[in-house]
Amino acid sequence: MDPVRLHDSMSREVRELPAGSSGRFRMYVCGPTVYGPAHIGNFLTFVRFDVLYRLLQLAGYQPLYVRNITDVDDKTIKGAISGGQPLEEFTRKWTERFHEDCRALNLLEPDVEPRATGHIGEQIRMVEALVEKDHAYVGGDGSVYYRVQSFADYGKLSHFDPEALRQQATNSAGTVNLSDEYERDSVADFALWKARKESDGPVFWESPWGPGRPGWHLECSAMSLKYLGSGFDLHGGGEDLCFPHHENEIAQSEAATGEAFARHWMHSVHLLVEGKKMSKSLGNFYTLADLVGKDFHPAEIRLAMLGGHYRQQFNFTLAGLESSRSGLGKLESAVASLLDTAGLEPSDWSGFVGPRLPREWGGFKNAWAAFRNDLNTPAVLGALFNGLKKARSSAGDAESARLSLEAAGALVFALGLELFARPRPEDQAVEIPGEITRLAELRWTAKKDRDFAEADRLRDELAGKGWLVLDRPDGYGLQPKS
Ligand SMILES: [Zn+2]
Repeated sequence: MDPVRLHDSMSREVRELPAGSSGRFRMYVCGPTVYGPAHIGNFLTFVRFDVLYRLLQLAGYQPLYVRNITDVDDKTIKGAISGGQPLEEFTRKWTERFHEDCRALNLLEPDVEPRATGHIGEQIRMVEALVEKDHAYVGGDGSVYYRVQSFADYGKLSHFDPEALRQQATNSAGTVNLSDEYERDSVADFALWKARKESDGPVFWESPWGPGRPGWHLECSAMSLKYLGSGFDLHGGGEDLCFPHHENEIAQSEAATGEAFARHWMHSVHLLVEGKKMSKSLGNFYTLADLVGKDFHPAEIRLAMLGGHYRQQFNFTLAGLESSRSGLGKLESAVASLLDTAGLEPSDWSGFVGPRLPREWGGFKNAWAAFRNDLNTPAVLGALFNGLKKARSSAGDAESARLSLEAAGALVFALGLELFARPRPEDQAVEIPGEITRLAELRWTAKKDRDFAEADRLRDELAGKGWLVLDRPDGYGLQPKS
């Protein structure tokens, strides 16, 4: 196993991840709420955890990845009712859309993807355990609330000041303006089980406290413990989830089980779009479909996303997507040239892309080190480009080209980059001059005849005339140099 170091939000330190405590590295990530298309800010978070999952596979951690689907909450219920659909039908439609977008962005499927509505029994049992241990009580409105004061460690993840909380709790019984909070003992207390309201329409389940539905925080505790058990290895999500969502998950889970919940916490910092917080009113709110509609390929979008470190605010711009477009072309062109040198066909590339360590990292050693040092994807990309450039210009023999391809293939797997996935320029409306086509045909013939020197000469001649040749499994593509 090659150790990976990662920042932990609770200790605020970069620490080496230990091997999974049960033979597998057990990780849980808070998934989407399925009431509409996810936006690129959501996908930035999911792409980063996908990269972590891939990296852990490559480094030998044998990760077990659980990412949930929130399919019941205020927004999903509202959407279903206003669309005149049963909740299940409404959330299924948006879950399918989420999966389509994930596939387009080349996200691996998690090992388990539990749905909140599929685990109502587990959630009710957890509330029962908390009521029994006096960590929860039935409030004035019939909902069940978690008594935050009963958990001494509350605030340990987000470094929330418990004294301020106690102050609030004291005030809530007295004179402070909390008239709408009468049903709870303290403003900090949160709902574990929500009593049925008229606005819930047909969405409710029977429970020992009457009809209702689970509170949002509860599902992640119930499902992570069910599939991973107490003391699992890593819990993650977007930075906005740190408080109160993850703080509440810890309080519920540790109070219910009496055991430590998760060993390591990872949070992904949100993006800015064109320098501003994404919002519909600013016109910088993008779904994946919006960007594809602007003619960007999901592989270009993914590459752009990897250009930011997960703990730094990342500015996502259309200009950045343009440079990802040419960056991806450079990667493809370098890989195609190494395949040529190795005497391999373009279709052989997929054989290099997988969770296997190369025989040696060679010129890609820095990229592998940056990857394992707090998931520094911008540095990984820089080192990958450099490594490829050097490997290509050193005009080595077939064996050294093959070694470079192994190392690059492992890195490209962990980054989740899809090379040669974009439509060929000839499928688009690009006019290719007859002379260029003739040279490209000559080069393809030379290559098939294994006259690599002549093929290389023709590739250079084409490059001199402003055209890049991209070899593909079933032929070649031509692309004007940008
Ligand atoms: Zn969660």
